[in-house]
Amino acid sequence: MFIRRGYALLAQEDPLLHRALVAEHQRQDGTLMMVASSSIVDPSVLACMSSVAMNVTAEGYPGARYHAGCGEIDPIEQYAIDRAMAVFGARYVNVQAHSATTANYAVMSALLNPGDVILGMKLDQGGHLTHGFPAAYSGTYFQAINYGLDNNRRIDYKQARELALEHRPKLIVCGATAYPRTVDFARFREIADEAGALLLADISHIAGLVATGLHPSPVDHAHITTTCTHKQLGGPRGALIMSGRDAGTPFGEDGRTLAQRLRSAIFPYFQGAPILPVIAAKARMLSLVQTEEYRAAARRIVDNAALLASELAGLGYQVITGGTDNHIVLLDFIGQPISGLVAERALEDVGIVVNKNHIPGDPRPSTVTSGVRIGTNSVAQRGFGPSEIRQCAQLIDSVLRAVRPLGERDYELEDFTRQAVRADVRKLASQFPIPRYVPVDRRQPSE
Ligand SMILES: *Cc1c(COP(=O)(O)O)cnc(C)c1O
Repeated sequence: MFIRRGYALLAQEDPLLHRALVAEHQRQDGTLMMVASSSIVDPSVLACMSSVAMNVTAEGYPGARYHAGCGEIDPIEQYAIDRAMAVFGARYVNVQAHSATTANYAVMSALLNPGDVILGMKLDQGGHLTHGFPAAYSGTYFQAINYGLDNNRRIDYKQARELALEHRPKLIVCGATAYPRTVDFARFREIADEAGALLLADISHIAGLVATGLHPSPVDHAHITTTCTHKQLGGPRGALIMSGRDAGTPFGEDGRTLAQRLRSAIFPYFQGAPILPVIAAKARMLSLVQTEEYRAAARRIVDNAALLASELAGLGYQVITGGTDNHIVLLDFIGQPISGLVAERALEDVGIVVNKNHIPGDPRPSTVTSGVRIGTNSVAQRGFGPSEIRQCAQLIDSVLRAVRPLGERDYELEDFTRQAVRADVRKLASQFPIPRYVPVDRRQPSE
C-alpha cells in the first residue's frame, strides 16, 4: 500500500530517481550476489521500513514511548524485543541500535571508563574495526590490544589467553568479519573469567546460523552479544544488543545490572532517537527467521559454502583453512600475479559480485589485497543447491583462469570468456529469481 503509492508518486514526480531504483532492482535480479555480508530482504520487511511508523519521533509522541527504562514501550518495539528473545534465547534485548558499529561503541561506553584496555581480534586477520583496532581508538578512549590467528589460520586462543592474563583487559571482544570457522565462545568465556574481563560477542556475520542452531550460540557465554540485522538475518540496516544468563549480574560500583547499564546506553545518550519503522522491520524479520523456509535456507547457506570451498580447492585454489564451517569461503592469492582487487573486478564484470579481502600475511596493501571473500547467503536464499554451486565454482574458475592482470588493479579479460560467463550468470539468475519479489522487467533500463 505505502510502497505502491510511493512508487507511483516517485515515478511521476522524480523519474530520474525512480529509474535509478528500477535499475538497481534489475542489477540485483540479474547478478549473483556472493558478497559475504549480503542477503535478501523480504518484501514484507521492506514494507515495514516504508511505513507510517516513520512519522513517529521520540519527541512527537505523547509519553515515554521508547524503551529508555522510563515508561511504556511501544507495542511495535515490544514485538521486536519479544521475538529477538525467542530467536536468540536472550533475557535482555535492545532493538534500537542503528548499526553494529554503534551497538559495539554503545556497549563500550556503557561498561568501560576512558583508558580501559580492550582485547579484540586483529583487523587484518578477520576482526572488525570496532573490536579494538588501535587506530580507530587512537588512544583517546580505550587502549586496544589484539589477538590473531595461529599457523593454521584458526583463532589463536592460547595467544588470546596469554594477552588477557598479561594486560588484564576490562573487555574481550570475539566474533569476526572474515573468518570461515566456528568460534568457540565457551573458550573465550573461560579466558574472560580467568582474566576478570567482560566478554562481548559480535555475531554480525553468523547471526542467521546462530538463530537456527547451525553455529553455537554465544548468548549465555558472553556477557553481551551484538549483531547487525542486515547481514545473514536479512533484516533492515540496524543492530541488536542482547544479554543472556548475565543480564541480571551486578556490574560496577553502583551495583546496577548489565541490563540496566545497557538500557540507557543507546537511547538517549549514545545514539539518540530510535527509528520506529526500522524496529518494525526488525520485528518482521525476527518472525521470518523462525519459519521453516528460513531454516532450510540457512542449511543451504552452510552446505553451499562447504561445497563451493571443496569445488574451488579441487580446481587448485588455495582455500584458507581448507574449507569452511559457515557461509564464508576465503581464497588466498599470495605469491600469485592476480590480486584480490583484480579478481573482484573481473568477477564483477561478468555479474558475480564478491569482495577483495586482506588475508593473514598479505604482502599487498589493504586497497588491493591478495584474497577474496565469497559468501553464500544470497544465492542460498534464491534457492541454489549443489548443481548450481558447482556451476558457480566453474564460472568463477573460468574467469580467474582467463583473466590477465595488468598490474595490481587493471586486467584484460578476453571477450569470448566475458560474454559466455555473463550469459551463464544471467541464465542462472533468471532461473532463480529473488524470492517473493515482483518479477523484474528484464529489458534494459535505458528505455
Ligand atoms: C559488518 C560488521 C559490523 C558492522 O556493522 P554495521 O551495522 O554496518 O555497523 C560489526 N561487526 C562485525 C563483526 C561485522 O561483520
